[in-house]
Amino acid sequence: MTIKLICVDADDTLWHNERHYNAARERFRNLLSGSGDVDASLEAVERANFETYGFGAKGFALSLVEAAALTAGTKLTGGLIVEILQIGKDLLMHPVELLDGVEDALDALAMRAPLVLVTKGELAHQESKLVRSGLAGRFSSVEIVSDKSADTFRQVFERHGVLPGQAVVVGDSVRSDVLPALEAGAYAGYIPHPLAWDFERRAEPVGESRYQRIESIGAVASWIDLIAQRS
Ligand SMILES: [Mg+2]
Repeated sequence: MTIKLICVDADDTLWHNERHYNAARERFRNLLSGSGDVDASLEAVERANFETYGFGAKGFALSLVEAAALTAGTKLTGGLIVEILQIGKDLLMHPVELLDGVEDALDALAMRAPLVLVTKGELAHQESKLVRSGLAGRFSSVEIVSDKSADTFRQVFERHGVLPGQAVVVGDSVRSDVLPALEAGAYAGYIPHPLAWDFERRAEPVGESRYQRIESIGAVASWIDLIAQRS
């Protein structure tokens, strides 16, 4: 099957992301040390808030304040809130650090089919990271979505005039990249990142013929060539 569209995830597929969230959680833990189980409180608040705030750093910052109020109670001062909000601001403005080999890998992919960036999160933040990454010119189009479902990918394929079986989706999340892509009928490549966010963990669909685990983004092009040779 000739591949006519390549959809690529952004956070922890093209550039580092989770390490910045881990650093933010560490700062939050240090600020509130001695105030109970800060990590458990933050995780519970975050999960409860996804539906309301969506995914992204601004929602995360609001969850930090809420978790702080729940754990620190009356010890939560105005000064502490300002420090917590600064953690969120730093998360929004950290430098974009590309993963190894990303530029060459995208150039190799772009020779095979149009590239579409498909990323979930907040529009302004994801746009800002893409501009700061210097990678924007390598993509034919950019889709910033609130979450990734099979329908999300079906709509992307339709907009680009390709059938699901002519599309490849690659990313570091089984939950957000692989499973919805397979459900939509596309090929799905999982590029594991060592710092996977617990929320995104799912079992790999081992044995599924359109699924492939790929050790680095640099190896995606040769997988696409193999798909083309299959039929
Ligand atoms: Mg990702």
